[in-house]
Amino acid sequence: MTISIVGTGYVGLVTGAVYADFGHKVFCIDINAQKIKDLKKGKVPFFEPGLEELVKRSLESKRLKFTSDFESSVPNSRVVFVCVGTPPLEDGSVDLRQLYSATEAVARHLKGQTIIAIKSTVPIGIEVELEKIIHKNSKNHFEIVAVPEFLREGTALEDTLHPDRIVIGARNPGGKSVDVMLDLHKHFSGERIICDLRSAQLVKYAANSLLATKVSFANAVASLSEKIGADAEKVLHGVGLDRRIGRAFLYPGVGYGGSCLPKDVLAFVDVAAKFGYDFGLLKEVDRVNQEQIENFVKKIRQALGGTVEGKMIGILGLSFKPDTDDIREAPAIKIINILLKQKAEIVAYDPVSIPSVKKVFPNQMKFAADPYETAKDADCLAVVTEWNEFRDLDFFKIKKLMRSPVIADGRNIYNAEKIKGMGFVYFGVGR
Ligand code: NAD
Repeated sequence: MTISIVGTGYVGLVTGAVYADFGHKVFCIDINAQKIKDLKKGKVPFFEPGLEELVKRSLESKRLKFTSDFESSVPNSRVVFVCVGTPPLEDGSVDLRQLYSATEAVARHLKGQTIIAIKSTVPIGIEVELEKIIHKNSKNHFEIVAVPEFLREGTALEDTLHPDRIVIGARNPGGKSVDVMLDLHKHFSGERIICDLRSAQLVKYAANSLLATKVSFANAVASLSEKIGADAEKVLHGVGLDRRIGRAFLYPGVGYGGSCLPKDVLAFVDVAAKFGYDFGLLKEVDRVNQEQIENFVKKIRQALGGTVEGKMIGILGLSFKPDTDDIREAPAIKIINILLKQKAEIVAYDPVSIPSVKKVFPNQMKFAADPYETAKDADCLAVVTEWNEFRDLDFFKIKKLMRSPVIADGRNIYNAEKIKGMGFVYFGVGR
């Protein structure tokens, strides 16, 4: 099948490379000319394990093509996936500009019977606007389907091939377009959920919001545990072993970040309000998440005698989670921002995200080559992202390097008693 993918970011590029690997002819379209230029050479503009190898292989097979030109790709495609960004606006609602302009560009080049499959996370009911845009720009036959994406950065290829479920929403769930989509997904595992468009869109927002709710719930229990003198790690382990609840996303820490959970929670609140429902529960989830960052900085301040002014804080981990270089809504960026405002000096290390963070803080902070250089002359060493390489550090060496031995463990990756026993001031989250 010939397929076009509009938007060659984390979702679009993974989707395109995987379909090309399965033998389809895939055009990956993006308006970012530099991105397309790099991708044509096999250079993936972000870090995702295994992706660059797959892209190179698909390029060599000539089944994967990168272009900024809708005309050479869309008219020949049976399915056009829309994978553009849907970032948040200041008020939490969704910025729909990428979605609208991509839809318009697709509409202007439609030919034959085309399925427009929306993979971007979009507000519920958006199909009405999208259909208007298409009708205005095309006389062609088309059908919109919703195929929300559930991949996780860091394990995106595995998630695409082995998803828990494939959700396909359509105006006519029994129609031909759904059959085409089912056929296209035939090599992927996971249960199939066939439903109407709005239910499909709702699955995505509800799933991400529930994950965020679990994180904030764990963090609320952690804050209470600190007051009670309980160990939130043990508490949540005990809670999560209940099979009805599960361990996943039930860990205390510095809160959820990334390009999806924070924005999707706020967008869900906004969408719900537009349909007349006040999703107060999720407003609280967001508030707890923000509070978690402030609490962490407050504890650093307290450990350093009430102020961070003039103190050197070493930050370990900058991406919003391990195995990605994505720093969108990363807790580390928020923590660094607050610490800089409070006149701290910052030195940071991350295995892959330093180039992206340099663009955010070009002159305001320093970067180190490894965790030990980060610890050198630091008054506090704060773990913000739990990369595996931080789990087994030589703390004897670290203690000698630091100006004052304070460890702020934002992900509870260390054995608190062991670290304290070595003479460190140590705090985690909820311990
Ligand atoms: P991204 O920002 O990495 O990529 C979007 C791409 O679309 C960019 O390369 C941009 O240049 C391109 N683009 C913008 N307007 C365009 C246009 N008019 N024509 C062609 N290209 C255009 O975004 P992403 O992280 O891949 O996310 C895409 C969507 O998928 C979002 O709605 C997001 O919420 C959702 N999603 C993301 C993830 C994830 O882990 N990143 C997971 C599930 C769902």
